[in-house]
Amino acid sequence: MASHLFGQDRDLHGAQTETALVVGELDRRPALFGHGLPQLAIEVLLAVGHLAHPGEVAGAVEEIGRGLAQGQLILGQLEIHPPMLGASSGPDGGVSTLRGPMDLAPTPEIDRLRAEVRAWLEANLPWEYGVGLPPRFDDLAEEVAFGRRWQGQLAEAGWVGVTWPIAYGGRGLGPAANFVVQEELARARAPELVGRIGVNLAGPTLLAHGTDEQKRRWLPQVLPARELWCQLFSEPDAGSDLASVRTTARKTDDGWVLAGTKVWTSYAQFADWGICLARSDSEAARHRGLSFFVVDMHAPGVEVRPLVQITGEAEFNEVHLDEVFVADDQLVGAPGQGWTVAGSTLSHERGVNPRQLVIHLQHLDELLRTAAGTGAFDDPRLRRRLAQAYVEVRLFQLHNWRSLSRLERGLEPGPEGSALKLYWSEMSKRLHSLALDVLGTAAPLWHGAADNPGDGSWQRAWLYYLASSIFAGTNEIQRNVIGERVLGLPRERAPEEVRRGSR
Ligand SMILES: Cc1cc2nc3c(=O)[nH]c(=O)nc-3n(C[C@H](O)[C@H](O)[C@H](O)COP(=O)(O)OP(=O)(O)OC[C@H]3O[C@@H](n4cnc5c(N)ncnc54)[C@H](O)[C@@H]3O)c2cc1C
Repeated sequence: MASHLFGQDRDLHGAQTETALVVGELDRRPALFGHGLPQLAIEVLLAVGHLAHPGEVAGAVEEIGRGLAQGQLILGQLEIHPPMLGASSGPDGGVSTLRGPMDLAPTPEIDRLRAEVRAWLEANLPWEYGVGLPPRFDDLAEEVAFGRRWQGQLAEAGWVGVTWPIAYGGRGLGPAANFVVQEELARARAPELVGRIGVNLAGPTLLAHGTDEQKRRWLPQVLPARELWCQLFSEPDAGSDLASVRTTARKTDDGWVLAGTKVWTSYAQFADWGICLARSDSEAARHRGLSFFVVDMHAPGVEVRPLVQITGEAEFNEVHLDEVFVADDQLVGAPGQGWTVAGSTLSHERGVNPRQLVIHLQHLDELLRTAAGTGAFDDPRLRRRLAQAYVEVRLFQLHNWRSLSRLERGLEPGPEGSALKLYWSEMSKRLHSLALDVLGTAAPLWHGAADNPGDGSWQRAWLYYLASSIFAGTNEIQRNVIGERVLGLPRERAPEEVRRGSR
C-alpha cells in the first residue's frame, strides 16, 4: 500500500480494489486529520493512489471544504500513528529511492515521553495551554531575552536537545523521541528556540568533530541558552557555492588571524560564538584549503551590522572579521578539514522538519477558520485552493514520516532531505499566498490595522516564508541534488570546471 502512497507507477484499478481494505484499516486507527467523515474521505483518497495528481484530490475534496473549516484539525492529528497502512518497499535505485516502508508504531516509551512533555507544558507554559499564544514583541532584543529565559526553563526540565548525550544536558534519545518533543512544543505554540543554531548546528558539529576539551568548554552552555551561537558560513560571493569562501585564516604562533566578510548571519548580534568556515590554504584545491573555527563574537575586530529584512525585522547580519585572533584550540578538526566538518553541520539542516510541519498544520487550521470568517468558502476558486492546501500539508506530513522512518532505522536523511525541503518550502509559499487571497481587501494591511484578520500575522508569514526557498540551501540547489542523486541525471559541472571549459 505504501507504494500507492508514493509511487509514480500507480495502478488505479488495483488500488480501487483495495479501498475497502483501506477503509477497514482507517477505521481501526485514530483519525489523523481531526474527526469525522471529511478526514476519512481524504485519507481514502490519498490511500487509493491519487497522489501523483493532487489536483484531482483537490477537486474531490472541494465538496467537503465547509466541513474542514469546522473540524478541529490540530489537536486530533499530531500523533505518530501505527504503521502506515502496511509497508512495502519499491525496487532500489531511481525514483523509487523516494519510497520506502514507514513503520512508526509508537513504542510505550514514546507514548510516555509524549505524555510527559505535554504534562510539563500544560503546567509550565507561560500562557494558557491550547488557548493562549506567546507574547508578541516589537523589539527583537526583548524577544531574544524572553527566548533565553524560556529555553533555560525548558532545558532545566530536559526538553531541549533530547538526542544530545546525557553528559551535556540531553537525554540520549533517538530521532522519533525528538520528533515527538518538537511536535508537542509546536502544538503548545512554544516559540522557536532562540538558541537553535547552537542546539541544531554548532552543538552536533562539535559532538562529531570537537575535542573532549572543546566539548567540555562549549556544550554545557548550549542547551540552556547561557551562550548563543551563529553560523558564519555564507559570504557575499559564497552562498550556494560555499566552497568559494574568501575569508582568510592566517597562521600565527599560537593561533590564527581571520579576515573577511560574512553575510546573512542569523542572530549574530546576540551570539557569543560563531562557527566559521575560512580559507587557511590558498594554494590547496578549493575544498581542501578550508578550516573550521569557533570565533568569539565579542573578540576585537568582530563587527556586526544588522540587515533589515523584508519583514521589517533585522534577524540576520553582515559580519566583518577584521584581523580577528582565534586561538589554536578554537580550530575544529585538523587544518584543511573544514569542508568535511562543515558538511556535518549542513547535514543537520535537512532531514525531518517536525517544527515546520506543526507550524503549517497550525497555519492551515487558522487559515480554514479565517476562511470561514471571511466567507472565502463561498468562492469556488478559493474553496478549491483551500482543499488543495489541506492536501499539501497532509503530504508534507507523510514526507516527514517517511524521512523519520529512515532516521529511525539508522539511515542518513539522504536525498529525501532535499525532497522534503523543496516540498515544504514551495507548499508554504502557496499556502501563505492563498492566505492573502482569503484576506482579500485586508491583504495589504499590517499589524495594528483595523479589520485585519490575524492582525498582520498572515502578511508577516507570507513575507517570511518567501525566504524558505533560500535558507538551508536554495530550491534550485535542492533540485540539483534530486536530479543528480535521485534521478541519476548527469552531474552539474563545478564552477572551476566551467571556468576552465570557457577559457
Ligand atoms: C532567512 C535566512 C537566514 C540565513 N541565515 C544564515 C546564517 O545564519 N548563516 C549563514 O551562513 N547563511 C545564512 N543564510 C544564507 C543562505 O544559506 C544563502 O542565502 C543560500 O545558501 C544561498 O546563497 P546566496 O544567497 O549567496 O545565493 P547564490 O548562491 O548567489 O544564488 C543566487 C541564485 O542562483 C541560484 N543558483 C546558485 N547556484 C546554482 C546552481 N549551481 N544551479 C542552479 N541555480 C543556482 C540560486 O538558487 C539562487 O536563486 C540565510 C539565508 C536566509 C534567507
